[in-house]
Amino acid sequence: MLKKNSTIALCFLLSFVFNIFLTNPVLAQEISSNNKYPIVLVHGLGGFGRDEMLGFKYWGGLYDIQEYLKAQGYEVYTVAVGPVSSNWDRACELYAQLVGGRVDYGAAHAAKYGHARYGRTYEGLIPDLGKVDPQTGEVKKVHLIGHSMGGQTVRTLVQLLAEGDAEERSFPQDNMSPLFAGGNNWVKSVTTISTPHDGTSLDNAINNGLPWLQSFVGFMSTLSTPNSLYDLKLDQWGLTRCQGEKVADYLKRVFNSSFWKTSRDLSNWDLTVEGARELNGWVKAQPDVYYFSWATNATRKSLFSNYQVPILSMNPFLYPFALHIGSYTRNIPGQIPIDSSWWPNDGLVSLISQNGPKINSTDTIINFNGNPQPGVWNYMGVMDTFDHMDIIGIGTLWNPCPWYLEIAKLLTSLPADYAVVADGETENSCSASDLMNPDEAEITATEAADVSGENSTSAETIEENTISYPDITDIAEE
Ligand SMILES: [Zn+2]
Repeated sequence: MLKKNSTIALCFLLSFVFNIFLTNPVLAQEISSNNKYPIVLVHGLGGFGRDEMLGFKYWGGLYDIQEYLKAQGYEVYTVAVGPVSSNWDRACELYAQLVGGRVDYGAAHAAKYGHARYGRTYEGLIPDLGKVDPQTGEVKKVHLIGHSMGGQTVRTLVQLLAEGDAEERSFPQDNMSPLFAGGNNWVKSVTTISTPHDGTSLDNAINNGLPWLQSFVGFMSTLSTPNSLYDLKLDQWGLTRCQGEKVADYLKRVFNSSFWKTSRDLSNWDLTVEGARELNGWVKAQPDVYYFSWATNATRKSLFSNYQVPILSMNPFLYPFALHIGSYTRNIPGQIPIDSSWWPNDGLVSLISQNGPKINSTDTIINFNGNPQPGVWNYMGVMDTFDHMDIIGIGTLWNPCPWYLEIAKLLTSLPADYAVVADGETENSCSASDLMNPDEAEITATEAADVSGENSTSAETIEENTISYPDITDIAEE
């Protein structure tokens, strides 16, 4: 434990020293607010809720992004979904946490993978999500921000909300969750940060023979005290942490369980390149949703080879992962080839995987030019020298709050959506797209253009300050 704590302390110290001097967060100009939709923060692999680490925050580390944004007038929530669960399960949990009620993983899904259909019950952070304000006609929507695997999770939720699931609808079941019915266009925007849209090329066992995912989750669980309340939230698999059970024992019990080694309904499948390919095959960008992607990179070409190696400011815990990704290739029949274009990385995810889904995907990715486009991925560029955890404030004393404030400003600059008002009465449907008045749609499109005009200065400021917007093909060729 002493060795572990020393390593973590060293990570913080090194990251602090180098990040302070090597990085300078984006500071853009004021953006006017056109919607006041709540912002929801969705963690990635190994993530945890606000009350699990005795004050240490997944979103902010020693800082507190949620409370900072709230102090600036934004409505912000943090959710806590299964840290090692599949994107499907996490999306179902996210849904229940947003609207309230018991998690329903779907009868068809539960039967297919052999776990319980129902999970925990939540009060609901935004119970009026999708409802129409009778005074203004405005449809209540939400902005979802996902870090790492959280980006895949929010994409999955958006897909299910919009189109539901045909397998669940055709499966005989009582009280099917409304999530699987579709037609719920409740999400205004999706922002992904350091997300492995095309998976990560991390091999299974790389760190002294320990599978990387197990090693990483173990690291995340040690970020607070040994008495932390870290919870893997695997109730659906019957693996709830026992009272008084040590975190290490709990993790051991989970990773030694038979389902962990065989099931594809887990993060360790979803995060592979093949798992991402499968997800990209059915999770599509929805035409009315604004998608933004941010990438992180903390490697450079080695002086002695063509491989990519970590920069000094990378969290030392991530070094073995970065070195592995930075030199890994494969050309195996039946598997997606991995070449040197995958080498630049942030310690867990290749840069090339982060701008949006490409493998087995029909989504379009464009470089953000200050004018947000719906239905496509607006690639915001690379936060260079930032490793996978720096960008959420973990392993660094860089204050991430101002950077997230700029994201919040951009999201709330998007036009609000309104329902059709027929004969002086407001409809009470939940589907914003069904209710969208064509005139309103035109107005909102114009508003978006206007907003982008206002934003052009800030976009330029961003570009001048720190961030470059590399062409996607450039990344592939590097
Ligand atoms: Zn499941």
